[in-house]
Amino acid sequence: MELRCDVVVLGAGAAGLAAARVLSRAGVSAVVLEARDRIGGRIYTREDPGLPLAVDLGGEFIHGTAEESFALVRAANTVAVDLGETAFMYENGELREGEDPFEIVERIMKRARDLRVDVSVEEFLQSLPETPDAERERRYARMLVEGFDAADPRIASTRAIAGEWNGDEGGQTSEQFRPLGGYARLLRTLHGALDPARVNVRLATVARVLRRQPGGVTVDAMLSTGEALEVRARAAIVTLPAGVLKAHGLLFEPELPQRTRAALARIVMGPVTKLVLRFRSAFWERVRDGRYRDGAFFHNPDAAFPTFWTFLPLRAPVLVAWAGGPKSDALAGREEPALVATALDDLRTLFGDEADPRAELEATYAHDWQRDPFSRGAYSYVAVGPADPRADLAAPVDGVVFFAGEATAATSEAGTVAGALQSGERAAREALTAIGASG
Ligand SMILES: Cc1cc2nc3c(=O)[nH]c(=O)nc-3n(C[C@H](O)[C@H](O)[C@H](O)COP(=O)(O)OP(=O)(O)OC[C@H]3O[C@@H](n4cnc5c(N)ncnc54)[C@H](O)[C@@H]3O)c2cc1C
Repeated sequence: MELRCDVVVLGAGAAGLAAARVLSRAGVSAVVLEARDRIGGRIYTREDPGLPLAVDLGGEFIHGTAEESFALVRAANTVAVDLGETAFMYENGELREGEDPFEIVERIMKRARDLRVDVSVEEFLQSLPETPDAERERRYARMLVEGFDAADPRIASTRAIAGEWNGDEGGQTSEQFRPLGGYARLLRTLHGALDPARVNVRLATVARVLRRQPGGVTVDAMLSTGEALEVRARAAIVTLPAGVLKAHGLLFEPELPQRTRAALARIVMGPVTKLVLRFRSAFWERVRDGRYRDGAFFHNPDAAFPTFWTFLPLRAPVLVAWAGGPKSDALAGREEPALVATALDDLRTLFGDEADPRAELEATYAHDWQRDPFSRGAYSYVAVGPADPRADLAAPVDGVVFFAGEATAATSEAGTVAGALQSGERAAREALTAIGASG
């Protein structure tokens, strides 16, 4: 089969659909090729009849003040719910209300502004002055860099992490929201905004080779039936996850320029293990005379799953267990029952013997993002080194290939859904300019 269009978009996650919406509004024709049999990519909402609320196995929170995400919340006719803020920390054998780890990292990362040469986060933490609190602060900073950025502190660039956490406008903040009804609702709204007369979204279609020719591109793809599809277009927008590009999940002919390849080598795909646990009752609200009733986050930096969270302000008997970076690597290869057993042990440590999480458990939900050939990890971070590889990855190739996706987003939004949305819109505008159309 052969198709022709103005712009071919690879991937129908947040970036691909945001790009397609800009193209649709500009009145050009587009074909979107998506390997999975669903839209959304790393946004994957489970709306199970057994669940009291929709749960996201991938992207879940709206971080900070990202305007793209809030615009989509409004368009989807839903609301963004502020998260509960109370965080409890497990220290010296007890779970107590503690200092917000976000504030600790913000404070520490302000000191990284004066770095003249980039160093790894671990090296930077070791260079901090030895105050009475230093060791504790280092532990929390590591926990957040691993948990929030899915990064290995021994590899991650301090400059990049500081760019995200320096407390400036546009950077990350501890303010977080959840789209009511789950992220899938926002993605369905994006999808619904595409003009079907102009934009052809083809699911279960894997792009294999992207050829650049003067003035255009050809994509060789494969349908789930095994049938070959060739798409010819004047430009391509590539939104495949950095993990897929790094693993040569798409072949480029001729090969990508050195600048793009060097950028990909510096961008690391961070691993995350996220497990959703549905219980008979919210037992943590009852233990120790209700002390943890308003807990939104429970942290134990030494546990296999260092963070659990609730759905506050919505009260539901559901917890999310989360391990990122090296903590997720340590769980790699374990099947779901073994992960669940580990999470239940960690809950026992946090809440003591008063409750029996094992007896309360009703169902679990998870997706292995590391083994998934269409993500190969959760989201990207930058390894220590000079310059900004995200900007290099975002640079157009031969005026016909435009990269988008969270890995190409500006530092302050990289790794997030908002970053993916922004990058898709940016790439679509660039592609429109390149083909002489206006957005
Ligand atoms: C567990 C987890 C938790 C997260 N939590 C948050 C959060 O709370 N807040 C937040 O903002 N972000 C979060 N993220 C990150 C966020 O989900 C991503 O940054 C964002 O969804 C990425 O969008 P994207 O369009 O760049 O990539 P994707 O959504 O990955 O889209 C790329 C698409 O390309 C497709 N594809 C891959 N290979 C091919 C091929 N060969 N041919 C055709 N199609 C192909 C994929 O199937 C996919 O649909 C989380 C991610 C994970 C995994």
